[in-house]
Parts: sequence; structure tokens; C-alpha cells
Amino acid sequence: MDKPAILGGKPVFEKLLPITRPYLPGYDKIEQNTKEMFASGIITNDKYVRQFEASAQNYLGAKNCVAVSSCTSGLMLSQKAMKLTGEVILPSFTFFATGHSILWNNLKPVFVDIDPETYHLDPKLVNEAITEKTCAILPVHIYGCPAPATEFEEIAEDHKIKLFFDSAHAFGAKIGKRHVGTFGDVEVFSCSPTKLMVTGEGGLCATKDDELKRKLSAGRNYGDSGSYDCELLGLNARMGEFNAILGIETIKLTEENIEKRAKLFEIYRRELSRLPGIRFQKVAANMRVTHKDVPLYIDSEEFGLSRDHLQKALDRENIMTKKYFYPPLHRQMLYKEYFEEFDKKLPETNRVSGNILSIPLYSAMSEEEARLVADAIKRIHEHRDSVKNEKSSSIH
Ligand SMILES: *Cc1c(COP(=O)(O)O)cnc(C)c1O
Repeated sequence: MDKPAILGGKPVFEKLLPITRPYLPGYDKIEQNTKEMFASGIITNDKYVRQFEASAQNYLGAKNCVAVSSCTSGLMLSQKAMKLTGEVILPSFTFFATGHSILWNNLKPVFVDIDPETYHLDPKLVNEAITEKTCAILPVHIYGCPAPATEFEEIAEDHKIKLFFDSAHAFGAKIGKRHVGTFGDVEVFSCSPTKLMVTGEGGLCATKDDELKRKLSAGRNYGDSGSYDCELLGLNARMGEFNAILGIETIKLTEENIEKRAKLFEIYRRELSRLPGIRFQKVAANMRVTHKDVPLYIDSEEFGLSRDHLQKALDRENIMTKKYFYPPLHRQMLYKEYFEEFDKKLPETNRVSGNILSIPLYSAMSEEEARLVADAIKRIHEHRDSVKNEKSSSIH
């Protein structure tokens, strides 16, 4: 076996292999609508946005979809529209936008620990954390694997509190035959470039509640439902027509996108699950996942190298990786006032966050590239003792 690049071998990739790339339609597919939109002079929140919302509703089997400027703004507006006050239960093991939306609404985040294998909010711990101050639960379909949504629906119903999901990773995910986007009071997708269904920038709120849909539609337009007499504190969170035109086409690619990702993921699973100390996210049998990311849990004892050592060595192979999601929210500066209260209650969050690494996956990646990434990891593992002792790989 050749040496890994960190020990002086030739890097597996000459040019950086990105961790992700958006799956886009050919330019010809958006040309006609874009021309017409230009000619009409109507470039935001109009007929293509309506068409995009209708396509999303149809694809998801959702009653209402409201397109917004981002998942972050969609989450912020959902909380305003539901008139939340008090405390919201959410994971700390997530992207920071989940938590930021709570802070923007002057609500208190209550971080609850995750299941050590699925990385989802643990329903049992959620149940125990509910108090009279709790107004809502905000689970995340992390990495595009559905959270146990029906269990959360039961908990929310029992306690008469709201349930909404950060579904940023999960456009196209399913539990049984039911799409993510049809659970809880509202689910919010992201359509930014690293996510499954891309509109450039954008987000999508899916809800079965007609009144909530009405409020979200006003909310994205400063709070004005058309009367010029605002009823809620809104934002400018409209989606542009450009973005919607792209979305109308990318929705059509979703199934193909997910199938391609699943095939590449299978290569990783086959090649890497043989190595000691590498674990994959546990997925229940009835779930379809989007593989928004491929998180590898690195048990440093068993693997012989820490997550950080592996990342450094892959970096030298020109393979881009990300520590999604590290540090967890409660250990970030912005959330420092919550550290004392929650850090001891989040052992699994801290452990998973400290050992997780996402490797490249996107539809346009070739099977050969996936195999090369897996080979690079095997080679680094083979040379683990020298890699660990390599000066330039020292981790502080
Ligand atoms: C990307 C992401 C968001 C934010 O999405 P935007 O559309 O960029 O606002 C929110 N939550 C999670 C879990 C994400 O990964």
C-alpha cells in the first residue's frame, strides 16, 4: 500500500474533492421561464413562486407550502405565527440556525440530549424535560434521516404544545409512505445550495394548518396580508421568482438525486463498515433518508486515530470534510449563558459532536471517487500509528 499523503505519499486527489455540490438542472431547463419573467418585469413572489409552492405541495403530499427566503427566516416566522412564548425544546446537536431562530424570538432554548445511535432528540428525554413553561418542541431531521416524528406528535398532543420541525436536510425523506413535511404544526425546509432541493437561497414551510399558512404568507411580507394593517411582526422573507424557477426544476430531480446519493452511500457503507471504530448513523427500517451528509462516527480507541487526526490526514489527500455538528450549540459563544445549565445534561451530544466527521457526497460524484475516498480512509487507518506521531498532524 502507498503511503498516505500526510506521510509523504501522493495525494489521492490532485484537486480538492468538495464535500458537496448542488444538483442543478441544465440551464436550458430554466431558460424559457427566465426569459418570460424578465419580459414581464415581475421578479419576486409571484406566479413562479405559486407554481413552485404547488409543485412542492404535490410532491410532499402537504396541504400548504409557503416559500420563504431561507429556512432560518421560515423557522423565525413559524414561531411568530404560532405566537410562541416561554421555552422551546430542541437538540444542541444541530446546525446553529436551529437555535438562532429561537433566540430571535426571545424564547428560551431548552437543550435535550440525543439518542447515541440515531443522533435525534430522544423522545423519552423530551417528555421528561417538558414543564409548564414549554410551548413547543423543535426536532431536527438530522442529516436527512427522519426524526421519530409520530412519537413527537403524541408527546405534543398529550401536553397540548406545538411541534415544528427543522427539516432543512430532509426534502424527500419519508417515514413509511408519509413524506417529511406532513408532520407536526409546520415543517421548514432549506433550499440553500448544500441542501437537497436547491433554489439558490430559499426555504419552504409546509403546514396542514390553513390559518398558519395565512400568517406565514403575511409574515414573509413584513406581516402585511394585503390590507396594509399588519397583524404580526413580519420580515421581508419573500422568495424571488428566479429562485422559484430553479426550484420548479430541482423538485423534479429530487427522486433521482436521492437514488444517486443512496448508491454512493452504499459504497461507503460497504467499504468502511469493515474498519474497526467507524460507525454510521442508525436508521430505522421504515425510513427513507436523503443522505444530505455522510457522518462517520470515529471511535478513536478502536480506530486508532481521533476524528481530528483523520480530518487532517484527509485534508492532505485533498478530500474536504466537515465536523458537522461541532461544537454543539450550548458550547458556542453565543449560547454561553446556557452552558452551565445544560452541559452536564448532554453527554451524548458532547460525545457524538466530538467524534463525528462528514465526508463528501453529492449526486455528480462518481462511484470511483467514492471508492477513492474510502481507500484513502483505509490507507490512513493502515498507517494510523505513524499518522498519529506525524509532527505536522499534531492536534492541539
Ligand atoms: C442549513 C440549515 C439551516 C439553515 O438553512 P438556510 O436556508 O440557510 O437558512 C437550518 N437548519 C439546519 C439543520 C441546517 O442544516
